[in-house]
Amino acid sequence: MSDQKGFTTTILHSDRLLKPEFGALHQPVHTAVTWGYDDVRGLVDVFQNKAKGYAYSRQGNPTVTALEVKVTQMEQGMATVAFSTGMAAITATLSSLMKAGDHIIASAFMFGNTRNVMQTFIDLGLEISFADPTDVNNFKDLLQENTRLVFVETVANPATQIADLDGIGKFCEENNLVYVVDNTMTSPYLFRPKKVKASLVINSLTKYIGGHGNALGGSVTDTGLFNWVTFPNIAPVLREQIKPALLGITQIRKRGLRDGGGTLSPEAAHSISVGSETIALRLERACNNATALSEFLNAHPLVSKVYYPGLIDHPQHDRASELFRNYGGLMSFALNDRVDTFAFLNELKLVIKSSNLGDTRTLAIPVAHTIFFELGAARRAEMGIPDSMIRLSVGIEDIEDLIADFQHALEVSMP
Ligand SMILES: *Cc1c(COP(=O)(O)O)cnc(C)c1O
Repeated sequence: MSDQKGFTTTILHSDRLLKPEFGALHQPVHTAVTWGYDDVRGLVDVFQNKAKGYAYSRQGNPTVTALEVKVTQMEQGMATVAFSTGMAAITATLSSLMKAGDHIIASAFMFGNTRNVMQTFIDLGLEISFADPTDVNNFKDLLQENTRLVFVETVANPATQIADLDGIGKFCEENNLVYVVDNTMTSPYLFRPKKVKASLVINSLTKYIGGHGNALGGSVTDTGLFNWVTFPNIAPVLREQIKPALLGITQIRKRGLRDGGGTLSPEAAHSISVGSETIALRLERACNNATALSEFLNAHPLVSKVYYPGLIDHPQHDRASELFRNYGGLMSFALNDRVDTFAFLNELKLVIKSSNLGDTRTLAIPVAHTIFFELGAARRAEMGIPDSMIRLSVGIEDIEDLIADFQHALEVSMP
């Protein structure tokens, strides 16, 4: 169905086409931990990958499957595995596909927790090199014989650099590397990494896909483009049982989800599924609000810099225009030195001081003091993060109210 119908139509009718009981329009919340079989052969067949079905909810649940189907449709991928959080999806993907001695090339501008988990993998014996992803040549310089995987994000947080997604895709294809793209900032509504030859797409379902700040979740989607038969780290037992195309995602489901245990609850899967139905409406509104706010802030004398891909002086504005449907809901800005950042933030009455993003509500956070505090002043300076930088996740409020809130806070912050 996803081939013929539009983005939102496909998600809205997805559960129904899985034929839940009584013609329900939503897949019910299946709270059972285990499934029983009248004939033991049914259970054995599920264990031996000979039949579809459910055995134990840690590795599969019909409510979670319904969400996995929707994410696969949104990404136009082949198959998806959902996890308890975005971080669980990232950790499971790396731990189930990599072996000690393998080499990864990763973006130097990554989500802080992803950077931290990469350090854990370095401590466990992986080699990981970090480079500025805005130019593929920085990645080409790092290629080694043992390089197996490349990891980038679409739009970096907080300074909104956009990776050379297309160039890196070609580089990975030429060198037979697994290309992992964290699509959280753009979401499949604004961008499908399959278009730039990604092998695996990560989404934090907590953010735009769920969208309401009421459930944690994560996913990894196999786009079907990578030839897993050539991948040396696939377990021999899977090569005997599983279709070649499904080797990678099955290894992630078994080692990463079943054995790793970062399972998404059926209740959270249901909340995220319902939230996902309106992603197009929410993101259109958030992008329009972000564009208006970026222009308002850019023109204000107390704002020294605005980081938003929609602004024409953004270094990768043309790349964003070419690749993405719109410029996203994430923006940062830095205040003039004379303004007290905390006092300004405390004058915002509508905008919430909070660390999440992709919520329906507009959230603001002082970057250097919170999400990038542990990096230290020297690394922050290297990454171009001034102490006065504020990150905004723009929500879907009425734009007049948002601008009035900023206008007021700037006015009273006049030195
Ligand atoms: C939030 C986020 C994650 C982690 O997702 P959680 O669901 O919070 O674990 C990963 N990558 C990016 C880019 C994120 O913004």
